[in-house]
Amino acid sequence: MDHRQLGTREKVEKNGALKHWYFPQSAKFSSYIFSLHAGPFHVWEDDADGIPLRLMARQSLAQYVKPDDWFTFTKQSFEFFQPYFEIDYPFVKYDQVIVPDFNAGAMENVAAVTFNEAYVSRGEKTQAQRMRLANVIAHEMAHMWFGDLVTMNWWDDLWLNESFATYMANLSLAENSEFTNTWENFYLGTKQWAYHSDLQPTTHAIQLPVKNTDEAFANFDGITYGKGGSILKQLPYYLGKEEFRKGVSNYLKDLSYKNSTLDDFMGHLGAAAGKDLDQWQQQWLYQAGLNTIAASFQCDKGEVTSLTLTQSAPEDYPTLREQRTQIGFYNMENGSMVLSKAIPVLYQGGKTKIAEAVGQPCPQIVYPNEGDWAFAKVNLDPVSVENMSRHINDIEKPFTRLMLWQSLYDSVYDAKLPLDEYVSFALSNAGSERDINVVRLVSHHLGYAYSYLNQVAIDPAKRDELQLAIENFVWEQLQQAQAGSDAQKTWFSTFTDVAHSETALADARLLLQGERNIDGLTLDPDMRWDLIALQNQHLFGDYEQAIERELAADNSDRSQLNAIAAEAVRPLAESKTKWLENILQHRDDFKLSQLKYAAFSLFPTEQGELYEANMERIISAMDEVNTSDAPEYVGTYAKLFPLNCSDRGVQQLSEILDSGKPLNPLLEKALKNRRFENQRCLNMAALLNGSNKG
Ligand SMILES: [Zn+2]
Repeated sequence: MDHRQLGTREKVEKNGALKHWYFPQSAKFSSYIFSLHAGPFHVWEDDADGIPLRLMARQSLAQYVKPDDWFTFTKQSFEFFQPYFEIDYPFVKYDQVIVPDFNAGAMENVAAVTFNEAYVSRGEKTQAQRMRLANVIAHEMAHMWFGDLVTMNWWDDLWLNESFATYMANLSLAENSEFTNTWENFYLGTKQWAYHSDLQPTTHAIQLPVKNTDEAFANFDGITYGKGGSILKQLPYYLGKEEFRKGVSNYLKDLSYKNSTLDDFMGHLGAAAGKDLDQWQQQWLYQAGLNTIAASFQCDKGEVTSLTLTQSAPEDYPTLREQRTQIGFYNMENGSMVLSKAIPVLYQGGKTKIAEAVGQPCPQIVYPNEGDWAFAKVNLDPVSVENMSRHINDIEKPFTRLMLWQSLYDSVYDAKLPLDEYVSFALSNAGSERDINVVRLVSHHLGYAYSYLNQVAIDPAKRDELQLAIENFVWEQLQQAQAGSDAQKTWFSTFTDVAHSETALADARLLLQGERNIDGLTLDPDMRWDLIALQNQHLFGDYEQAIERELAADNSDRSQLNAIAAEAVRPLAESKTKWLENILQHRDDFKLSQLKYAAFSLFPTEQGELYEANMERIISAMDEVNTSDAPEYVGTYAKLFPLNCSDRGVQQLSEILDSGKPLNPLLEKALKNRRFENQRCLNMAALLNGSNKG
């Protein structure tokens, strides 16, 4: 095969003990997307309609790599992108390299994309995990055009690079893959990340000035990827799908092998759609904040007489925006709650009267963002809330149930619905749910609820009762889930988050030892490690030997990382000191991934006292961390500040933040968000106690 075509070496010259490698000259591209990989990789080869494909991984990991999945997802993405952009893949070959100790998830190096080994699972993947892989493959490939062929001028347009790849990857999956619920998944992941980030005090406009690379790193966040991706999803509805596509294609053609700016991009979209996008750009890109939309309606004699959509904005970010979405009307028909009418609306300003709604049969539930087109928080009217609670399992569309379950949890997070009421609602209703995305959402939220209960000030008997109820429910779901299903794996994972009673820990140990079986559930090495970590977290049984036995059977890199996490999570002063000092003082003796695994598991929510005992030591290292020029290390350090749902927790962070000391932007952001989460948790606790008294 022609080496020049493959982009591999042209020749190798021996020079004594040294070798000199020559590579062919490539087309012009930006320096940040150059990469060099060396090592005895395991290599798989394939071909995507003439584009040579290679996939590489460490020899020891090769047995777990599923090259068929990788190549199928890769070919499907090429099939989608080339006609969509109307530009053939611009480089001569396409390598995907799975590398150890990679800091990020993946990186779009020209024609040689790197992936974190975390994308290789050592067991049977769930559909959601396979979709995550398909998604990252498509994301990095989208960058080959958008980012690599046309490169932004400066980091202030970073968001466009990432948002575009995020949106395009999902579009590619929705249009050309085996996955049928791409947008539900987008709602569950990307959009929730975006909403959450936009509510935090560190939110920022999507487009903002970036002085240096430290600031750029602090901005790889839920606004850059999530909100940007979400509003790009809105644009094809706003402009027209074909107009949007044409604008993108023209932009890429005109600026190939050049640098570009946001105005270039917007200009091309506007020209293709015949629309001036100045106002859109002002509202969406230069102003931060999340709008809330709510529908209020009146009915008479079974018909709607008026319906108004109200838009509001947070005090600090008062911008109201223009968006196109749909209003969904739901009614019970033959025992199920069905979408009886979807009305497309373009809303703007504070109030929009929806004339098309008048005369329609009176709805039992009104959902003002049907189909999830808009980027907005939904506040349900009281009638809809009431009907939703009574009929959640009668609602026909899984996507609607998903959005309603999310709204319900949002009310807990906003301290509008007491945590205990949410838990009892979920435990009475979630058992009938069969849609995997809803199951994933509710089981995650039950895991969060369990963690919050560790932290909120509450009568201990009440706490025990609620936590035990969650544990029992999750164990029951795990038993009842269909053998071998994704729901079974999901409930297993939540079980390892919430198991804490002697009975549950004993069950977990029996599962680990193979003395107990759940039909269809095969424990892969990572699941085994979850159970071992659980044993260590509660100092249950032969927790130390459990680590040793597992390491003896499987001494892989991943196993060793899991062993570190299992040791660091023990509720023992010596485990905390050891790993804290490793992170703070001896960090050069460890790989970043080892420090990350330790930092992530050092202070689970029930170990508040151990955190308090170590807090001063953590804070004393701050000055040194601040001078670090390794953003990944700063991020790891920031993980040492766990949820601390107390006035003192809020105050400590305020002391640091208000001291006037300059902080690394990444650290400052993490601490501000942590303070905000602590305060939120206090609000939840206040509501919980208020409601219990009342
Ligand atoms: Zn990206």
